[in-house]
Amino acid sequence: MESVQLQLTIYKLYTKLERYYGKTNWWPAEGVFEIIVGAVLTQNTNWRNVEKALNNLKDNLMLDYAKILDEREDFVKQLIKPAGFYNQKYSTLINICRFIKEELQGNLELLKTMDTSNLRDKLLNIKGIGKETADSILLYCGYHPVFVIDAYTKRIVSRLGISKESSYDKLQQIFENALPADVHLYAEYHGLIVEHAKTFCRKKPVCKECFLAYICNYKAEEKVG
Ligand code: SF4
Repeated sequence: MESVQLQLTIYKLYTKLERYYGKTNWWPAEGVFEIIVGAVLTQNTNWRNVEKALNNLKDNLMLDYAKILDEREDFVKQLIKPAGFYNQKYSTLINICRFIKEELQGNLELLKTMDTSNLRDKLLNIKGIGKETADSILLYCGYHPVFVIDAYTKRIVSRLGISKESSYDKLQQIFENALPADVHLYAEYHGLIVEHAKTFCRKKPVCKECFLAYICNYKAEEKVG
């Protein structure tokens, strides 16, 4: 797709999703640390499993970086187990809790005032933190205008015929070039993508009921909804 056309299509997709779903208020969380934990736990799993793990942490008053650092490893692992890959996610969680303690002195407000690319580099240096997690923290915790790309974004833009790009950086660039650098817009757009991937554009899509079917390129024989 030609670049001006591509930019227009990306913006129009936002307006269509927004008209259908309304405001998502994504990221769903009661506090900044909960967003960070959710961003770590959501790697390679669906949000429902993340919610179970977050609820376990909440019920045990463990949504606190210092408590996670102090608590017994097997206990924390048990709480986050529903999110899957719990050994790996536990290590990442510990690494980011150490970062909060040592680099931010426990002050999560600093995420809002640090330079965007400097903070991104620091987050990406934490073992276990990839681009999607780092950008989620930048956008939703620090209010930095960074567009989050995830598997849902790739799936939806590919099926709609907007872009087949699979590179994180390139797809992020495509979205950021198409949209004004607006934190609220980026935050909502990502939320709308998640919403659409959960509602219609699932792994096995429900195309027959989807309000975007009339503009979708997904092959007719694959529209098995
Ligand atoms: S028509 Fe099907 S493939 Fe296309 S966006 Fe809707 S659910 Fe996804």
